[in-house]
Amino acid sequence: MRLLLIEDEERLAEALAFILKKQNYGVDLTFDGETGQLMAESDAYDLIILDRMLPRKEGLNVLRDLRKQGIITPVLLLTAKDTVTDRVEGLDAGADDYLIKPFATEELLARIRALARRPSQQFLSEKLQVGDVLLDPSHSEVTIGEVSIKLTLKESSLLELLMRNPGQVITKEQILNRVWGLDSDVEMGNVEIYIHYLRKKLKTRTVKIETVRGLGYSLKEYH
Ligand code: CA
Repeated sequence: MRLLLIEDEERLAEALAFILKKQNYGVDLTFDGETGQLMAESDAYDLIILDRMLPRKEGLNVLRDLRKQGIITPVLLLTAKDTVTDRVEGLDAGADDYLIKPFATEELLARIRALARRPSQQFLSEKLQVGDVLLDPSHSEVTIGEVSIKLTLKESSLLELLMRNPGQVITKEQILNRVWGLDSDVEMGNVEIYIHYLRKKLKTRTVKIETVRGLGYSLKEYH
């Protein structure tokens, strides 16, 4: 699961990013609204944690613009204000939930888990199954039959992306954005290397990662 954190209080933002990464989330961080919006527009995230008061562009305006563009990524709004009007404003702008500062880390994590559980969303922290391959994304662990294998975080994110879209072609660019994040300077070649690792670890005949020439990869199930 990949999170975008848009928060201008740098110490808070960095502490949150640290905690979230320890929870096995992929995290990209930015300190202003304008950059945050650009990053969110890539649609590379499963969840956006958005502060309201931000330099260059206010959080609510970022949120409204994203929703106008059809970006439906769940947004958890962070706000220092706590009046009914503020809450209504936030929800009206398209926030899925909000958290009032200061908050306990535990509460933030609980809200993220709750948003991740919503059935309408694309991402879920539950296990995924295709063929006889069972993936537990929260523990980066794949089970095939009786055998469980630990994956690296990147391998797990990559497999998760493929398993959420079985039979569909996922481009290398989509993989780079979702697994490594937008600001990474990782090259396309890395995608190939990780696909190679994953293929070696997926010792099964029911599921295959196929190369779609010139496009990307597709997870195919065989009966
Ligand atoms: Ca702020």
